[in-house]
Amino acid sequence: MIDIESLKVTDFIDLKLLQQFQDSFSKSMDIATVVVDKDGKPVTNPSSFTDICKTIIPTCSNGNLKCQEAHRRGGEMAVKIGKPYIYKCHAGLIDFAAPILVDGSHIGTVLGGQVLTKVPKTESYNKVISELNLDEEQFENSLKDIKIVDKEKLLAAAEALFIMANALSKIGYETLRLRLNSEKLKDEVVNKNILLEKSQNKNISLARTFSIMSHELKTPINIIFSALQLLEAQYESNSYISDSKLFCKYSKIMKQNCYRLVRLINNLIDMNKIENGFYKLKLVNSDIIKTIEDITLSVVQFANFKNIDIVFDTDVEEKITAYDPEKLERIMLNILSNAIKYTGSNGLIEVNIYDKVDLLLISIKDSGIGIPEHMHKKIFENYIQVEDSIEKKPEGSGIGLSLVKSLVEMHKGKISVKSEVGVGSEFIIELPITCVENSENNGNESIHTRDYVEKIQIEFSDIYQ
Ligand code: ADP
Repeated sequence: MIDIESLKVTDFIDLKLLQQFQDSFSKSMDIATVVVDKDGKPVTNPSSFTDICKTIIPTCSNGNLKCQEAHRRGGEMAVKIGKPYIYKCHAGLIDFAAPILVDGSHIGTVLGGQVLTKVPKTESYNKVISELNLDEEQFENSLKDIKIVDKEKLLAAAEALFIMANALSKIGYETLRLRLNSEKLKDEVVNKNILLEKSQNKNISLARTFSIMSHELKTPINIIFSALQLLEAQYESNSYISDSKLFCKYSKIMKQNCYRLVRLINNLIDMNKIENGFYKLKLVNSDIIKTIEDITLSVVQFANFKNIDIVFDTDVEEKITAYDPEKLERIMLNILSNAIKYTGSNGLIEVNIYDKVDLLLISIKDSGIGIPEHMHKKIFENYIQVEDSIEKKPEGSGIGLSLVKSLVEMHKGKISVKSEVGVGSEFIIELPITCVENSENNGNESIHTRDYVEKIQIEFSDIYQ
């Protein structure tokens, strides 16, 4: 927004134009004129000024200040009465003022005058002469040059000046309108550019997502398709029924890959819900330690397939807090599946819980391949995978940790990673201890007897082929 009060007359009206207006007015009316700002300070060069106002008053002490104050007051009064204000100045001459108003704000005044309506008597100027400490003779002589105008001419001149001030006001208003419009346009351009950049980024990210997703969908479908073709071939050679071992093998492969598809689609649906604000927590007040322990223990046998040990430890046996058990499972299974995925055989995964009274720290530490430092923040973004680890484990869509971060944040918690390439990674979740009034857990349903088998099969589907 433009603050009109802080702007000068010349910010609205070109000084050259102002001077031209004023000079032609002075010339045609044969009257002294000047344009001042709202404080009474001259903005233009005075036109047709009398000696008294040009040389005598300005050279005496405080003369300029007194003129400025008279100009300021003249302008102020003209604004108040809404027509030209005719008055006697501090030096006893008749002046008139017409205000320049922009959008209702007084930005300057056009002044005219330095005339009298009758021949002056010198003695009536004695007070002015002594107050301003003027040279009496010089003043008397100058007084003789002051134009004597009849009242009608005075009124006509004041009216003409008022019309000129109105024309200047209009120019000022149009300039203001243009300025406001150009500022609005400038803002619009900035906003449009931001939107354009956002949409370009979104397009790039969509294109990337599309290419990752196509690959992710194609791989399990190809595997399922090949397995089916093999089964069909067996069936056509009539050995299908007899070879149940082969059937089991291919059916397992197909199931495994169906889980991969389910996992990918679940992640996509959830991510989409979170991005659009449709994902809600179902909070219950319950013992979070037991849930974490159960989830951890349920993946032990999967880790053992890869000869990886999982150790669980906690410094608190029970901690009641408000959390969504299903979402906590998603969080833990995601991090644990990554830990298993990126840890070689004979590795170790440690799940530790630290009680910080108002906070709970959950640490999931592995002795796997580690994550380079420049990727520590990035891995929590959508569709981000660490290049080096792709070489080692090409599977995964890069959605998991982004989903985990959103779920942790929905619990008002934080997640961070400490990791060193070749040494291992530690994911630390910080959850505040809270309590909800309308806990959905009514105490009858034990949230700790959940069946994780299918969920683990889905979550771990890209580890075991
Ligand atoms: P993905 O489905 O590809 O595993 P995530 O979002 O779960 O996606 O993980 C993003 C990337 O972070 C992974 O591709 C991997 O490069 C890296 N990463 C995650 N967890 C670990 C870990 N424990 N050890 C090493 N790298 C990891």
